[in-house]
Amino acid sequence: MSESAGGGDPLVIRSLEFIGPMATVGGWRPPSELPEVAFAGRSNVGKSSLLNKLVRRKAFARVSKTPGRTREINFFQVNDQFVLVDLPGYGYAKIAKERKAEWRPLIEGYLHQSPKLRGIVQLLDARRDPTEDDLDMLDFLASREVPTIVAVTKVDKFSRAAGEKAVRDLALRLHLDEDQVIAFSAVTGQGRDELAEAVISLVSAPLPNDNDADDAAPTDAPAADHPAPETDA
Ligand code: GDP
Repeated sequence: MSESAGGGDPLVIRSLEFIGPMATVGGWRPPSELPEVAFAGRSNVGKSSLLNKLVRRKAFARVSKTPGRTREINFFQVNDQFVLVDLPGYGYAKIAKERKAEWRPLIEGYLHQSPKLRGIVQLLDARRDPTEDDLDMLDFLASREVPTIVAVTKVDKFSRAAGEKAVRDLALRLHLDEDQVIAFSAVTGQGRDELAEAVISLVSAPLPNDNDADDAAPTDAPAADHPAPETDA
């Protein structure tokens, strides 16, 4: 179905504010007060178009496209609800090798430094095979147990049936559950509400080791990505 068919909008934007960029590993990032959802994908996959559609602003993601900002991680506060994190688009296949070295440390640095990260929306282009970078990113997210939604972009380029098949094939090929994969089109709005719902459920899910009193401090519970200390010698 397309946008808001027969129901309320799962994500009504009441306020949307650019809170700043993270430019270097270990550099500034906003305090981790609200849950975060990050968006990743290679350049040109349709990330800006998807973000604009998601928040219903025509040029919302423009800030991430301004010269000097394209390599940064940009943070936006949505309502008083969550922080939307726009990760830098990684390289085209032909120069992937050089770019890989660039995106990995910053994106990985962010992922390591983000106790409030609730999930990632990974974008893949419906018409293209996933690149090595895409596969690396998905593997990396799986290894860190970051909940991941895959948005398959530009499905309007296919007929409905062919689009559905492309999405099913991709899910099979990447060993993803079909309910982790959303067919999306910024042109028709297909998938916008489904994506909005998925984002809301990510930000609403409590983390097992979440501690609202002081998120930056270590908690007693071991983080999911660190093995528990051995207790019996
Ligand atoms: P980004 O580099 O990932 O931010 O990608 P953009 O959002 O700038 O989109 C890259 C190109 O793909 C632009 O020419 C867009 O017009 C086009 N595009 C993005 N989303 C869609 C879509 O859903 N359908 C179609 N047909 N084109 C799209």
